[in-house]
Amino acid sequence: MFLFYFIIGSCFGSFVYLCAYRYRQPSLQIFHRSVCDLCHHPLSWKEMIPCLSWFYLYGKCRWCHSKIPIYSLFCELLGGILSVLIFLCFDGKDVIGVYLVVFSLLYCSCTDILYGLIPDRTHVFLIFGALFVLEPHEYLISFLVFLAVFIVLYFINIITEGLGWGDIKLITCLSLLMKPYLLVFSIAIASCSALIIFLPMFLQKKITRSTKIRFGPFLSFGALICLFFKLP
Ligand SMILES: [Zn+2]
Repeated sequence: MFLFYFIIGSCFGSFVYLCAYRYRQPSLQIFHRSVCDLCHHPLSWKEMIPCLSWFYLYGKCRWCHSKIPIYSLFCELLGGILSVLIFLCFDGKDVIGVYLVVFSLLYCSCTDILYGLIPDRTHVFLIFGALFVLEPHEYLISFLVFLAVFIVLYFINIITEGLGWGDIKLITCLSLLMKPYLLVFSIAIASCSALIIFLPMFLQKKITRSTKIRFGPFLSFGALICLFFKLP
């Protein structure tokens, strides 16, 4: 059963990476026949098996020999692992909502890493996911919290200009899925993990205070920790 959920998740992970990569590639349609993203040569089924094809092809396109990004393999593996975790931690109608939330977070992490942006469609999918996870009697209070978080972050950002608008909208959407103190906790996890990654680079002067940090993957990481560990 674990293997079944892993395969499903790695297929989703592969699709999520494809959507994220093609977000800024107008010549490549999402539902177009699968082709190499660089030489556009059509791919056979052997070249499209999530996780395995990357190793089968030694991480290179068979036709133009360009490198297949390691991110794609990482996204497929992560998709599989997250899918198994959803199977272990959730049941009932929550599963559909959590799938939507988790793979939306994976998608926005990819677009933020690749292009430095979080598309608005991520926020729409997160809101849909939250509608599945929340009970109908929680809709009103969640909507009020959603508005309050957005207004607070809006004014904080006007003063500090510390976050991008994509990050603010992402945090606001996450407020639908977790209690306010958990939201603060997930932001703290995101900030600490970003600090661990970027502090050595800052000390080595590879980045400066003015470098724009792509915070989406860290916010997603913090949110996933809170979501899966079901912190009280
Ligand atoms: Zn190629």
